[in-house]
Amino acid sequence: MATVIDTLKARPRHPEKQNRPDTPLLRKPEWLRVRAPGSAGYSETRDLVRSHGLVTVCEEAACPNIGECWTQKHATMMIMGEICTRACSFCNVTTGKPNPLDPTEPQRVADAVAKMGLNHVVITSVDRDDLADGGAAHFAAVVHAIRAAAPRTTIEILTPDFLRKDGAAEVVIDSAPDVFNHNLETVPRLYLSIRPGARYYNSLRLLDRVKERDPRRFTKSGLMVGLGETKEEVMQVMDDMRSAGVDFITIGQYLQPTRKHAAVDRFVTPEEFQAYEQIARAKGFLMVSASPLTRSSHHAGEDFARLKAAREAKEAQG
Ligand code: SF4
Repeated sequence: MATVIDTLKARPRHPEKQNRPDTPLLRKPEWLRVRAPGSAGYSETRDLVRSHGLVTVCEEAACPNIGECWTQKHATMMIMGEICTRACSFCNVTTGKPNPLDPTEPQRVADAVAKMGLNHVVITSVDRDDLADGGAAHFAAVVHAIRAAAPRTTIEILTPDFLRKDGAAEVVIDSAPDVFNHNLETVPRLYLSIRPGARYYNSLRLLDRVKERDPRRFTKSGLMVGLGETKEEVMQVMDDMRSAGVDFITIGQYLQPTRKHAAVDRFVTPEEFQAYEQIARAKGFLMVSASPLTRSSHHAGEDFARLKAAREAKEAQG
């Protein structure tokens, strides 16, 4: 066993990035500084995650909000293993050849959700381009298992793009999560350098298909800023999302996980985030979260309640 662990430790998280030149690390402005995690609630969540053998994107992506979220028992579970078949230049998740799917995972995740007594859970996954369906059936099995174990918990999924996996998106949509989230991540011009394995149109089309198949399903999508995009490009992406019927947009500052990842072009100021929020509201999104520390799953439970209320208020107005 010790040998296996040692081997795993010796393997770099991102072998494909090892020969890249180091990118400069910009000093974080004061508005991005967060307190180190350490509360009792944080330790409780960490123990639960460990005892159920769960993987979280909070840890894998080195999310800056982990102290706040875990204190409130809000963790985003990452299913289908911790190794991703893509190699996005913004992402800290380990890349490589993943292990086979674990058939016990849907029940383990569902048990943890029930035990934590969550009102709302966010489930995400690595990309599994190695699987014929991209992991769609497994994703749906997790949603069904949570519904059975914790029927009062609302479920938000943050999915990969299922590129070139015919019929996969439909399987996941039909599992009927409360919120279907797929992030566009960045503007189309930057896809080749930031999300080289993905296609902007494919991601947009995925969001569109959710609404075509199930118009009442809430959809959500997010963008990172500070990667070199212009304000006009961000506004164009907002328009594209609205054309696909996206209800909820999240916009947050990109933070560079290591010197081998894409460099931060600049830190977008809190005032600029406020301006993005106003523009997005004017474009008709039901919900907008735009701030330096906004992440797809940050405050997802409270935001889901507000999203439902926003739809009801809009429908009441006729
Ligand atoms: S924002 Fe999301 S990924 Fe980050 S710590 Fe909170 S739940 Fe985890």
